Amino acid sequence: MSAENSEVSNNGIVIIGAGLAGWHVIDAIRAKDKDIPITLITADSGDRYHKPMLTMAISQKKSAADLVRATGIDAAEATNVKLLANTQVTDVDTTTQQLQLISALRSDPVYTNYATIGYDKLVLAMGAHPIFPKSLPEELVWHVNHIERFGQLQEKLATGSQHVAIVGAGMVGTEIAEDLLKAGHQVTLIDLNDAPLSQMLPPKATSRIAQAVKSQGINFLGGYQVSAITRISDGKLQVSYEALASASATDSSTAEPIEPLIVDHVIASTGLTVDDKLPTAAGVEFDRRTGIVVDAPTLRTSTANIYAIGDCMSIDGVPCRYVAPLRAQAATIADDVLGLDHNGYEHKPPMIRLKNKAISVMVTGVPKATGNWQVKTESNEELVMDLLNDSDEVSATVTIKSPANPKA
Ligand SMILES: Cc1cc2nc3c(=O)[nH]c(=O)nc-3n(C[C@H](O)[C@H](O)[C@H](O)COP(=O)(O)OP(=O)(O)OC[C@H]3O[C@@H](n4cnc5c(N)ncnc54)[C@H](O)[C@@H]3O)c2cc1C
Repeated sequence: MSAENSEVSNNGIVIIGAGLAGWHVIDAIRAKDKDIPITLITADSGDRYHKPMLTMAISQKKSAADLVRATGIDAAEATNVKLLANTQVTDVDTTTQQLQLISALRSDPVYTNYATIGYDKLVLAMGAHPIFPKSLPEELVWHVNHIERFGQLQEKLATGSQHVAIVGAGMVGTEIAEDLLKAGHQVTLIDLNDAPLSQMLPPKATSRIAQAVKSQGINFLGGYQVSAITRISDGKLQVSYEALASASATDSSTAEPIEPLIVDHVIASTGLTVDDKLPTAAGVEFDRRTGIVVDAPTLRTSTANIYAIGDCMSIDGVPCRYVAPLRAQAATIADDVLGLDHNGYEHKPPMIRLKNKAISVMVTGVPKATGNWQVKTESNEELVMDLLNDSDEVSATVTIKSPANPKA
């Protein structure tokens, strides 16, 4: 496969976003070309860290600083990259191939001053943002999608045992619930569905996960919707929630209001969305929920000279929000922007592994909650189920194992 345009002028390659995706692209380009100009623009400090650690670090008593593998400044120097940290890209002009920039620091005296920078090739690696439903106001709740915010939460929790409500029992919510429990906190995990991971796995599988989570000591409230969060006098938060009519947890014979929870912190893990500003400005094919559409073999977007990778990107309508494929994707982008021949990226859905110790959950393929799931193995210790497509081919497999000693 040959690159779309092997000519690269002085503006070089510009990467937006210094998460795992952005840094992987830099490593891949530098493995092939030590000199081509690369500019990394990022709204944060650019520090390198392994984001999956954010759901394991609190019980390991690790602060945000402990998780930083290299500061943005040091990593940029080591890779010969021009780093524009604390800088937000606010607009893309694809005709002139220019980006508009603003300081991301509100305290910065030039906060309102725009600068522009040109690109020859642009890589969008700007991640995805947590969704905050109306009932979870951003100013009252935490998220663990970025090391800076994580660091602030970790500092608060390091002061002693507290009660934390986690809203959303997807992978991140379920993992952080166990991590906080292990760190000695009281944990309430709330989800619309009857069991964790219900948006990707069938009830037969998720009921085992619910059971494991509960037996560990996590207060799992399945089938409930948080309706409001309010700050009360002593700095605590009141979490009001209601039963959903369809959930089995609901006792439909009573309409009594549920006593609100009083907690020290609320963490929202209610999903991710991709900010539409830059994709819209760049005219790339895009969906807020799943991300920027790319041509899988090249990782090119629908706009010339613009690529996408990481949490902001999707392949075949499925978001790519796992670490494992990043290396191969970055290598393809590197070859393509440098004008080197390559075989094309071949997308394989990564193996998904829940990091919880109370139960082992492993998924291959592209799982979804509904569909023709068939049991392959079923015992007290193990459940294996296959998801069959219309042609009776296996499109996903889940393997759940209950460890002999979950607290070890
Ligand atoms: C708590 C947690 C645990 C996880 N655990 C696992 C796991 O066990 N296994 C796994 O495979 N995956 C896991 N994931 C997913 C994985 O970590 C992510 O898919 C990956 O880190 C995403 O990297 P990214 O670089 O695309 O995005 P991000 O890390 O979000 O980086 C985006 C960057 O873009 C910058 N940016 C955004 N907008 C702009 C702008 N307009 N201008 C300038 N800069 C901008 C941001 O400042 C940031 O630097 C986990 C995710 C979370 C949150």
